[in-house]
Order: sequence, then C-alpha cells, then structure tokens
Amino acid sequence: MATYDDSNIFAKILREEIPSFKVYEDDETFCFMDIMPRAEGHCLVIPKTPCRNMLDASPSQLAACMATVQKVSNACLRAFGADGITLQQFSEAAGGQEVFHLHFHILPRKEGDKLRPPG
Ligand code: C5P
Repeated sequence: MATYDDSNIFAKILREEIPSFKVYEDDETFCFMDIMPRAEGHCLVIPKTPCRNMLDASPSQLAACMATVQKVSNACLRAFGADGITLQQFSEAAGGQEVFHLHFHILPRKEGDKLRPPG
C-alpha cells in the first residue's frame, strides 16, 4: 500500500488552505459537508492526524472517528428529520477511494429514499 501523501485535498482542508463547511470539530477529528452530497446532510468525518485509509488507521484514530460519527449521526437524525444513517468508508482505489486521507461518509436516510449517484 502507498504511504500517506499530505498533498491530498483533506489535508489541505485541515491546514485551512482550502475552505470547507465545518459541521463539528474536536481535538482528534473534523467533520465537514461533502461538496457533492449524495443525500441531504451528507458529511465526512476525518482524523486530524495523517492516515491514508481504514487499512493503516490506528485503533485510536478509528475510535476517535467512530465517536464523532456517532455524535454527528444522531445530530443528523434531529437536524434533517432522517430515519436512519448509511455509513460508508472506501479504502484504496480498488475499494472506491478517491481522496487518500481516511474519511467516513455519513449519509442521512429517509424511509424508502435512494442515494444519489457519486459525482
Ligand atoms: O471515494 P471517496 O470516499 O474517496 O470520495 C471522496 C469524497 O470527498 C467525495 O464524496 C467528494 O464529493 C468529497 N470531496 C469533498 N470536498 C472536496 C473534494 C472531495 O467533499 N474538496
């Protein structure tokens, strides 16, 4: 597996070199709106420390991200009147990953809806 490259777009968001719409932040994680939402309220949770994807993440990075995923997901149920959440994570190009900084997609869902296609 390739090593972490800090020129990726999410590393630039963390360094505030490019803007993002922040949803939540704590010492270890950052959550912001996806620019091409596939559902109302689609947002991304990332660790603040370098990590390519789930495959090279440390247990503490995963635990911190999951704690934020749970917090934001519950907030999404209230904010968007969602009935449920789809959580997605893509690791490596073959797994569908396009940005190589670990991220979890939070997709608020409504009964009977369909996710919009990527892009
Ligand atoms: O496939 P992967 O999970 O790597 O997709 C990256 C996600 O990052 C896409 O959903 C894309 O819309 C999002 N993105 C973003 N802001 C950017 C660049 C990509 O929210 N500046």
